[in-house]
Amino acid sequence: MNIAILSRRASLYSTNRLKEAAEQRGHEAPVIDYLRCYMDITSHKPKVMYQKKELSKVDAVIPRIGASNTFYGTAVVRQFEMMGTYPVNESVAISRSRDKLRSLQLLARKGIGLPVTAFAHSTKDIEGLIEKVGGAPLVVKLLEGTQGIGVVLCETNKAAESVIEAFRGLDAQILVQEFIKEAGGADIRCFVVGDKVIAAMMRQGAEGEFRSNIHRGGSAQKIKITPEERSTATRAAKTMGLNVAGVDILRSNHGPVVMEVNSSPGLEGIEAATGIDVAGKIIEFIEKNAAPGKTRDRAKG
Ligand code: ADP
Repeated sequence: MNIAILSRRASLYSTNRLKEAAEQRGHEAPVIDYLRCYMDITSHKPKVMYQKKELSKVDAVIPRIGASNTFYGTAVVRQFEMMGTYPVNESVAISRSRDKLRSLQLLARKGIGLPVTAFAHSTKDIEGLIEKVGGAPLVVKLLEGTQGIGVVLCETNKAAESVIEAFRGLDAQILVQEFIKEAGGADIRCFVVGDKVIAAMMRQGAEGEFRSNIHRGGSAQKIKITPEERSTATRAAKTMGLNVAGVDILRSNHGPVVMEVNSSPGLEGIEAATGIDVAGKIIEFIEKNAAPGKTRDRAKG
């Protein structure tokens, strides 16, 4: 098969591993910088152009779209979908998962465990917002944040009010969330492929840090998850419509709660912590599922 990896750089660990795993299985796996793809979107025969050539005969694409390039990246994935190319994650599912608020609303509707979370537009409603999540300690989160940036733990209601006012003063959109203290600064990354968790690791934040992000000095190790955690992760990925997803879960007193569902989960940390050939599992999934025109959400917008 010809499996194109939509990624900004061939040298990134995940990109490199996906290419290697595809080639090992006898596929062609070109790395395509999606920001350099261009297209005539009105053409009645959809095409994607790259380096002055038409990208034809691509059987499947693996989108590895960076958070800051979601708009253009998903447009490129959509164009491939219209050509009948199989995307391992569909454009609508990627867009959906990039919107934290929309994701939480969809997960809540399916009854998936979540931290109590509130959202408001006006600072006039701060008190109600704080009350809604049970008061301090609580977590205030920038909707647009990644890698733990913009995730603030507020120990008192007063501190929470100030932080919310400051963020809203800058016109930032925020979520207010109950603080899951019992998670002890750790979270579980479940790597879902298809309807299975194929690898799981626990990330522990650095000493004195409630955020477990590796970028913030956290460390990771392999972990055996419970059947409830397994089903929470696979249901969360399914709700978002993602075939490949990194589902982040906290262990709370009221069971597993989902933090986030990531549509381009990194392979480096999880492969290192678990020794599992995650890239190989993704390619295997594509081999089993890619068929021309097998895009579920095609042209639904
Ligand atoms: P990002 O997407 O920027 O990584 P997250 O919402 O995943 O932001 O939060 C980063 C980390 O902070 C999480 O992995 C978790 O360890 C911790 N965290 C976030 N929200 C809560 C919460 N409500 N209670 C306890 N810890 C939290």
